[in-house]
Amino acid sequence: MAFGKSILGDLKAIVGEANVLTSAADLAAYSYDGSSSWQSIPGAVVFPSKVEHIAATLELLNRHGTPVTVRGAGTCLSGGPISPPGGVVLCMTRMNRIVELDREDFTVKVEPGVVLHDLNRELAKHRLFFPPDPQSFLAATIGGCVAEGAGGPYAVKYGVFKHYLLGMTVVLASGAILELGGNTMKNVTGYDLPQLICGSEGTLAVIAQVTLRLLPLPEARCTVLAIFNDVRQAGKAVHRIRASGVVPAKIELMDNWMLRRIEELSPLGLPLDAAAILLFEMDGSAASVAPETQEVIRLCQEAGAIQARASEDAKDAERLWGARRAAFSAVFGSAPTVFAEDVTVPVSKIPDLIDRIAEIRKRYDVSIVLVGHAGDGNLHPSVLTDKSNAEHCGRAEKAVHEIFVAALALGGAISGEHGIGLEKRKFLKHAMQPQAIDLLRQIKSVFDPKGILNPGKIWE
Ligand SMILES: Cc1cc2nc3c(=O)[nH]c(=O)nc-3n(C[C@H](O)[C@H](O)[C@H](O)COP(=O)(O)OP(=O)(O)OC[C@H]3O[C@@H](n4cnc5c(N)ncnc54)[C@H](O)[C@@H]3O)c2cc1C
Repeated sequence: MAFGKSILGDLKAIVGEANVLTSAADLAAYSYDGSSSWQSIPGAVVFPSKVEHIAATLELLNRHGTPVTVRGAGTCLSGGPISPPGGVVLCMTRMNRIVELDREDFTVKVEPGVVLHDLNRELAKHRLFFPPDPQSFLAATIGGCVAEGAGGPYAVKYGVFKHYLLGMTVVLASGAILELGGNTMKNVTGYDLPQLICGSEGTLAVIAQVTLRLLPLPEARCTVLAIFNDVRQAGKAVHRIRASGVVPAKIELMDNWMLRRIEELSPLGLPLDAAAILLFEMDGSAASVAPETQEVIRLCQEAGAIQARASEDAKDAERLWGARRAAFSAVFGSAPTVFAEDVTVPVSKIPDLIDRIAEIRKRYDVSIVLVGHAGDGNLHPSVLTDKSNAEHCGRAEKAVHEIFVAALALGGAISGEHGIGLEKRKFLKHAMQPQAIDLLRQIKSVFDPKGILNPGKIWE
């Protein structure tokens, strides 16, 4: 799809010539995201710098029926920010101001292009903390995280993005600017529209500003590394610790393939012969962290860990968490195509999910690597393949399908945090009733009657 020169001229008049990209090289740079299966060249990339720019851009594109796909940092793992060919990418990275930090009421208002890490660096200066921590936090934007309903290791104790969302400014496809929610922890005024926008993957509205709830920075933290000879045993340990009443802030799992690959890329002294490791973080007051750390070590040993130890110091802890953050890069660099999945199950079912994945790996004879936020039941089994090898890729796709079937059979979901996007559209019908999918479509058409916002995502 191509759009006329007059639309391009109007876009430049709205945001300024320097804020519209159209060269082939620039368009190619905005044609993909963090997944490895999808690419499509947009017709233009537009950078708004204020809400009025977004409103005027959407009003224009809606009038012409031109597709528009919002983009943050493009770290999405489900194809979400990829525009249909020739559409407009509305890239929010130049709207990156922290608008107002309210230390009295523990809230912050931010523009959507603020990078999560930048927010937490600023908050730390005031002894404040925003817990949700997708492991892409060095690049991911707040707008992208709200739109994906993102979460990370801290979900075990602190929850995910939606639990911190108080209010937002959004722009509808028509160009109308709406204020939703507010500044208070409690608010039951009509339907909870901010929660509807959260996780809507850019299909309902453009998020132009967000008000988030904050917490005081914990006084102390300690990391525990536990090594297991058996992945299932590590999964059982997670459930045992959760059931014990101790609440670690994070519980992450990595399997042997992942440990070896991370060591190969950047040696960190990880235990190469371990079948799996668990990484825990305990946080809180200094008086509570020390005994909880000892309790987690004891529970891991009781659950069969061959070794469990506390981090020596902050540097040692950062080395271990750095390895965890490297996990996706390690996976993506190791095969031409990676289906990085994102299933979630009740925590007690983690050992069963691990067993099912082992069976599926054997049945389809494909490499499936395991990493994930085991403490909240969210595993990322990544299936390694190559799109150019149809026979292998066919087996890999069947394996992915079986992983979804297994997660659903165990009472889980096909996405814990990466969203449906393009990647999981064809599986939606297995995870939701037809009436519920129809309701989604109706909601979409109320917000965006011409269907210009991020078309082609979530359902086929
Ligand atoms: C190495 C790596 C690790 C990751 N780890 C995690 C993890 O632990 N947890 C997790 O949840 N995810 C994780 N992700 C996935 C990804 O980082 C998250 O989905 C993140 O929220 C995307 O943010 P972004 O700014 O890159 O958004 P993008 O990728 O640019 O966009 C994501 C979606 O949000 C929409 N969108 C973006 N901005 C707006 C806006 N202002 N208004 C409306 N819609 C908008 C887009 O249209 C798209 O559908 C990881 C990705 C990578 C590459």
